[in-house]
Amino acid sequence: MPAFRAPRGLRDLLPPERQGLARLEELASKLAARYGYRPIETPLFEQAGVFERGIGEVTDVVEKELFLLQPREEDGERWALRPEPTAGIVRAYVQHGMQTWPQPVKVTMTGPMFRYDRPQAGRYREFWQFDVEAIGDPGPAVDAEIIELADRFYREAGLQNVVIQLNSIGDPVCRPAYVAELTAYYRAHAAELPPLERARLERNPLRILDSKDDALAALNAAAPKAIDRLCAACAAHFAGVRAHLHAVGVEYVLEPRLVRGLDYYTRTAFEVYPAGATGQQAAIGGGGRYDGLVELLGGRPTPGIGFGLGLDRVLLALEAAGAATNGELAPLAVIVGSAPDDTLTRLRLATELRSAGLASRAELGTRKLGKQLEAAARDGAHFAVIVGDELSGGNVQLRDLEAGTQRAVPVANLARELERASRTHRHGLAAAGGTAGAPDRET
Ligand code: AMP
Repeated sequence: MPAFRAPRGLRDLLPPERQGLARLEELASKLAARYGYRPIETPLFEQAGVFERGIGEVTDVVEKELFLLQPREEDGERWALRPEPTAGIVRAYVQHGMQTWPQPVKVTMTGPMFRYDRPQAGRYREFWQFDVEAIGDPGPAVDAEIIELADRFYREAGLQNVVIQLNSIGDPVCRPAYVAELTAYYRAHAAELPPLERARLERNPLRILDSKDDALAALNAAAPKAIDRLCAACAAHFAGVRAHLHAVGVEYVLEPRLVRGLDYYTRTAFEVYPAGATGQQAAIGGGGRYDGLVELLGGRPTPGIGFGLGLDRVLLALEAAGAATNGELAPLAVIVGSAPDDTLTRLRLATELRSAGLASRAELGTRKLGKQLEAAARDGAHFAVIVGDELSGGNVQLRDLEAGTQRAVPVANLARELERASRTHRHGLAAAGGTAGAPDRET
């Protein structure tokens, strides 16, 4: 047993897995840019109040899952690691007067989030989200655009079969009456509620509706639906969202029990699952409208909508579907040589290839050529550049490690030859490794 281990529920992302995540991060940032979202970065931790007030005190995320940092007396400040990105981004929007920028402000962020959750498969205490937020547009067209963006992300990542669940949960005009009706409904069935849910009954009955507890399935299925109680403005907004989704060809299913885990949502709420999967750990993304949040965090009333997609779970879903998760893994070429001590030439050649934009690794040890070639093959490199006596005549041998063929190439043309050869090979995919660092199991 090693003396130290990563904290429970936190994983080391070893090279194959980190590269899979990097591929998704790159896809996310390019896709968001295609829709006009610009990158933003907020701190990994904030004043705890940003989350407590923004997300709501009667939520799992705040009640049970917030990672609070030990306060230092000199600061007198309570801090918490961010459990989700929206509250921090909205805090930044208010702090930096972004309501004076052209509206909506469309921003995107990808990074780790932290929740003190019970670790299990697909549920980690540190996990990565791809997030977009459009602040300052009341919708409904932007709601549909954001859902279409999420839908496209999964498809471009390689997940073809996802199900988008959609609901509207009303606004401060129609929700109070609905919540009162829901409270009365659950009160009448209080005996059927597990203790935690019973405690929530008076404080936040929407949380009961959101519960994935099987024992509540029948009760929740028969509960009054928000979608049947929308005021005229919310109903018109929801019809608008659906019309725009139809116009851009996004399919979805209506899910009346979907209320999302966080308090700040109004109107549009959506969640995404891999086809055939259900349950709390299966959601691969979710989002919604939060028209009250900017005001809650001290700004002027400003509408907003966004989503957070769970990249760890997208990787798991890709693996489950047998799809490739890794990007480029190996150097294109490894420079080896018959004079083991001549590290100088090998390093110089590799440096020249890198200057030409090609991925290469030089053998910088002094083992024999046979061992160097074995290591090159294990690296997953596609080519070996073999430096030998011919170097005095200006040539090296270029060996295709997969095809097993070899030919002399002038050093002066090496970069060009490699570049041409690399275009005809699907480089790197053959070397895909396993996954690393599954979380510890709860015992
Ligand atoms: P939420 O804001 O809870 O809806 O989270 C948005 C997305 O982040 C979810 O749909 C999941 O894909 C992902 N996610 C949330 N919590 C976790 C977690 N503990 N571990 C891994 N992924 C998570």
